[in-house]
Amino acid sequence: MKHTDALDILQTIYGYDKFRPQQARIIDTVIDGDDALVLMPTGGGKSLCYQVPALVREGTGIVISPLIALMQDQVDALKALNLNAAFINSSMTAADVARTEDELIRGDIDLLYVAPERLLMDSMLSLLDQCQLALFAIDEAHCVSQWGHDFRKEYMGLNVLHERFPAVPRIALTATADQRTRDEIVGNLDLGNAAQFISSFDRPNIRYAISEEGNARDSLLNFLDEHHDGDAGIVYCLSRKKVEDTAAWLCKQGRKAVPYHAGLDAGTRAEHQSRFLREEGIIVVATIAFGMGIDKPDVRFVAHLNLPKSIEAYYQETGRAGRDGMPANAWMSYGLQDVINLRSMMQESDADEQHKRVEYHKLESMLGLAELSTCRRQALLAYFDDELPKACGNCDNCLNPPVTWDATESAQKALSCCYRTGQRFGVNYLIDVLLGKDAERIKSFGHDKQTTFGIGADKSAAEWRSLYRQLIAKGLLSVDVGGHGSVMLTEQARPILRGERTLELRQIKHRAGGAKKKKRAHAEHIAQADRPLWERLRALRTSLSDGKPAYLVFSDSTLIDMVDQKPMSHDQLSAVSGVGKHKLEKYGDAFIGAIKEHEMFADYDADLDQSEYSDEVSATE
Ligand code: ADP
Ligand code: ZN
Repeated sequence: MKHTDALDILQTIYGYDKFRPQQARIIDTVIDGDDALVLMPTGGGKSLCYQVPALVREGTGIVISPLIALMQDQVDALKALNLNAAFINSSMTAADVARTEDELIRGDIDLLYVAPERLLMDSMLSLLDQCQLALFAIDEAHCVSQWGHDFRKEYMGLNVLHERFPAVPRIALTATADQRTRDEIVGNLDLGNAAQFISSFDRPNIRYAISEEGNARDSLLNFLDEHHDGDAGIVYCLSRKKVEDTAAWLCKQGRKAVPYHAGLDAGTRAEHQSRFLREEGIIVVATIAFGMGIDKPDVRFVAHLNLPKSIEAYYQETGRAGRDGMPANAWMSYGLQDVINLRSMMQESDADEQHKRVEYHKLESMLGLAELSTCRRQALLAYFDDELPKACGNCDNCLNPPVTWDATESAQKALSCCYRTGQRFGVNYLIDVLLGKDAERIKSFGHDKQTTFGIGADKSAAEWRSLYRQLIAKGLLSVDVGGHGSVMLTEQARPILRGERTLELRQIKHRAGGAKKKKRAHAEHIAQADRPLWERLRALRTSLSDGKPAYLVFSDSTLIDMVDQKPMSHDQLSAVSGVGKHKLEKYGDAFIGAIKEHEMFADYDADLDQSEYSDEVSATE
């Protein structure tokens, strides 16, 4: 880092020790007045890449951001650091806009957030002509690409910035851009001469785990109990009904859960979203309608109770966990029915053949990821043409390598049962036949007389379901939608039936991985004895947050550091990561007070434990 003033700003204003390696290089480039294109995963620390240069350089930094809904939070976060930040957008009154414009012309604003359509208005551009500008930051720069899903036509107009303000450096930032999108960003924003800073897509702090079958609800509850007591998170379900049911059920289990889907009225949705952002420990149970534009940094887990329909969707949804870089879990439970549903949805879709082929390919890849026995992260990154040379050590398959077994003989039984009953029944029926169930329906078809009747009694129904799921996922069986989910053999089943090929499958495992106690998503940083202090500091930050999101006071990682170090003076507190000068002055006494009090009573409690405490309890009973 050649600009020491930048480091000074990082330490005194933000309260961080040092820049991350890419950040330092990017910040140097922009301070020097050069353009930059930055591709960094969520949580990588993109904001500092434009905020710090904007503070070092003379004038105002203009931040172009597509989502008006997020501007308020971003500006609040900067104000919490005592910086002069503002936004101009269509939600404001004319008087507020005029006031902000005055401040801008006077040079009083460090960072100004605007939506592209607003920025490109003639009046706004002429206003900027009269201002000293530090830089333009083009956030979510992939919106300029027509390939991505977030195309915004206003972004196309942003190339005028270069023509009109040639001396002002531009920095374009995004978390999601494959090569094609990247090329389009460079082309459409006229960034041919910009330095490119491309980081890996990887989100190393997210632990991926995918489990199969079993009782999904029970495994979800186990997962929450074990890893996420009191944490905020998102649970994705496929249908609105399942969203409602799951949210109600979680509440019954004593969790703070709220539903969110497009069928709820706008008021309810807004209320649930705002509780999620502002209160601690809310779980949103949602369809995919939830998540766009949610920028909550301390989402500790994302759980899927159904299989998403592509790896893109899975990566985007799980990516909402752990934006603050602290450990987070991406957990999924899926089953046979998911595979059947998605397969049928695709077959029934009205899309043209080519589109269907693409969708089909995407689903295949998602299924492949779910059924994988090797490192999930390597597979995920490979899907995005990103390479991870070594297995990650932070996914279920790495932590708990799945046991595979030679399933050839069982697969032969399952396949031949399907064949001999005429390939017109669903999996549940086939399992009943294999188990030799004494059912009227089986007798009425005469299937109790067949050689496959009862040959599967050595396995449980759950094991057969898992086997059928894997056979379908591997394409040895296809599902006929018109025939109510009846399954049929494909060409690929023949060599197995004839004994020309063997088949290795994963052994059924009911719990999603990461079950090892010592590695918890946030609690792993907090010793059991420190739990009360952690809860106390969380409550304190909420009480100081003034109706705004509590993380604006201090982030999870800052609180964890505090619990670790237990600072008792301003000096000690300022050494905690994320405690800058302003927050130290504003909140220092309150937090130090809480820590001191906790420490005192901790000793007191320990004394009580050893003496009269048990008597006292029995006396009050
Ligand atoms: P992005 O916009 O890339 O998703 P953010 O800019 O929101 O990421 O940063 C993610 C988190 O990392 C934030 O909590 C931020 O304060 C923190 N952070 C960023 N840079 C640093 C740093 N150099 N040292 C410590 N924490 C940092
Ligand atoms: Zn792994």
